[in-house]
Parts: sequence; C-alpha cells; structure tokens
Amino acid sequence: MKSHRPFQQYDYGCALVSGLVALCLLVTLLLGACQSMPQASAPATVTRTQMLMGTLVRITAVASSEAQAQASATAGFQEIRRLEDLLSTWIATSELSRVNAAAGREPVAVSPDTLLIVQRSLDMARLTDGGFNIAIGPVVEAWSVAERQRVPSDRELETVRPLTDLTQVSLDEQARTVFLARSGMRIDVGGIGKGFAADRAVTAMQQAGATAGVVALSGDIKTFGRMPGGRPFAFGIQHPRKEGALLARLTLQDEAISTAGDYERFFEREGTRYHHILDPATLRPARGCQSVTIVATEGAMADGLDTGIFVMGPEAGMALIERLPGVEGVIVDSEGRVLVSSGLKGRLQLEPAAP
Ligand code: ADP
Ligand code: MG
Repeated sequence: MKSHRPFQQYDYGCALVSGLVALCLLVTLLLGACQSMPQASAPATVTRTQMLMGTLVRITAVASSEAQAQASATAGFQEIRRLEDLLSTWIATSELSRVNAAAGREPVAVSPDTLLIVQRSLDMARLTDGGFNIAIGPVVEAWSVAERQRVPSDRELETVRPLTDLTQVSLDEQARTVFLARSGMRIDVGGIGKGFAADRAVTAMQQAGATAGVVALSGDIKTFGRMPGGRPFAFGIQHPRKEGALLARLTLQDEAISTAGDYERFFEREGTRYHHILDPATLRPARGCQSVTIVATEGAMADGLDTGIFVMGPEAGMALIERLPGVEGVIVDSEGRVLVSSGLKGRLQLEPAAP
C-alpha cells in the first residue's frame, strides 16, 4: 500500500515554518496577556509543545496548582496522540490506513472515534456542496504541491476522478465499519482532523482539572475559559500576502479558530500559484480565496469549514457562514478584499497594514 501523509500532506518543512509563524504570533499575544497577571495566589499556567500529527502542538493549561496544570497538559497531548494512532495515514496500522488498504475489497471495523470523524467529514461535504472531500487524496498525490512542483496533465487528473466519489464511501453504524467501494480510493482527514483533535484535547484537559487553556495544532486552535486575571485569549490572523504580518486581531473565549490559506503550501509556475487546497470539481487548486478563517464553538467545525469554504469561494462561503449558528468568519478573496461575517464585525480589529 502506498502510504501518504495525513495531516501535512506536502511539505513538512513549509508546514512547520507556517505553523511556527502562527505560533510565534500566538505566543507574542499571549505573553502580552500574561505580563499583567496577578502573581500572588494566582492559578498556575503551563505551556508545553510536542510534535504530533505532523505539526508542532502547543498546549497552555491553567489550573489551581502547577501539578494539575502539568497533568492536564499531559492529558491533552495524550489524547492527540491517541487520535493520531487511529487516524494517521502515515501510520500503517492506523484504522484509517487499514480502511484504505481494504478499498475495493471489504469493510473494516473501526472505533467510535474513527467512525465519528468520517461521519463528520461526510456531513461537511454536504454542508459545503462537495467543497470538502476526504477522498481527495489521490488528487493531492497527483499534485504533490511542495514535493514535485509540477502541474499534472488533464488526463492524469481525470484518471483519478472516480476515486474521489464520496457516494462510494459507505458507513455501517450498527456494524461500525467503513468501506471504500473502489480499489485505489483512500480517505484522509487532514482537512478536519486537527480541529477534531483540538476539541478532544480540550475535553481531556478539562477532565484533568484545567480551568482554562489553549490547544494549538499549528493554526488550528481551540480555547476554553479565560487567562488568570480574567483576560480572554488574544489571537492574530495571518495576512495572506505579507509574511509574518497580521491581517487582524481578535479575542476568543470557549471558541476555536482555524485558517486555510493558499500561502501555506504552494509553488508558482509562469505567474500562477498552485497551492494545496484542491477543488474536487476541477481537481485543481481552488481559485476564489487567498485565505479563509473560521471561528466556531467546535474545532472540527472550524477546521472542516475553512477548507470547504475555501473551495466554495467568497460569496457562497460567506452566505454559508451567515446561515450557520455559532459560526463566524473572515475571508480574503482572490483580489485581496476582506469579507467579515456580521457577528465578527464588532469583535475584529483589522490591522492598519491590512488591504
Ligand atoms: P492545514 O492546516 O494542514 O493546511 P487545512 O485545513 O487547510 O489543513 O486542509 C488542507 C489539507 O486538506 C490538504 O493538505 C489536504 O490534505 C486536504 N485537502 C485538500 N483539498 C481538500 C478538500 N477539497 N477537501 C478536504 N480536504 C482537502
Ligand atoms: Mg481545514
């Protein structure tokens, strides 16, 4: 079986750099928040990082004691590792790898978590008119954006189109199995898995006694509670065309934020940018947006929607954001225009450098 990378499919180095930039921005903002923290009898705050799911994961935990904050950070990391072992297509024994290896042959029994994320991914496909598609893997491979930097032929792309047909993904909830009907198909939850993992890590941290915290898998971030001193968590949204510069700032409480951008992994050929978010209809990089940032209660929702809405484009995408309760967003369209959803208008501070 051909293995492929689950959460960072193209260029580990690039992804890491963009993750680091996002984290640096985050840390700068958090440090600003920490400096004015009351010191005496304040709750303990710990921040730790680990490489998981192919990316740098940073967890901040606030609890009544140092030991409890450490224990809840540990619980968060353990939960992400557990999910990685189930879902990573880079781990040959993972449940999703076994589902993929059995494509065209037989259904594979999976755990409730794996079944749930596949279900959520299919829901996300319906919500985004097919923009979000977990069976896009063979097309991702045909492009291999950061590795090969070449434009595949129409013929090559059309050959793999039948493998992206989501009607060929069957779930049996009773038997708890997943079946890919065509041989060569494979599913990959890279567009939603980090947000899903952030949700689960937060739950694990709360169960371990954390009163507040942040789980950041690169740019997929989920917060709960407030920093000691009552400050909400502050974040910056990366400018899609000015490296290291912010487009806007906002604070989050009990919310997740996730950004999909055409600047994360891409190459240029004759003035055209080819990036890693592919439109399942054209099998080519989606063209309507430079970046899509989603704020939602749930990390899985924020992460799945940023990718799906990036494909839908700015108008249909913003209309969907406005329709969904508890979901807000910022879209930078292909011309650099910034669209802000109605519920974020009072909350978002656009940077002076923003277009
Ligand atoms: P990341 O934070 O890793 O950039 P995103 O949420 O932006 O993740 O999702 C991009 C990843 O999702 C790609 O690297 C690829 O694995 C996968 N992908 C690309 N196009 C689609 C699509 N249309 N639907 C679902 N997943 C996609
Ligand atoms: Mg996503």
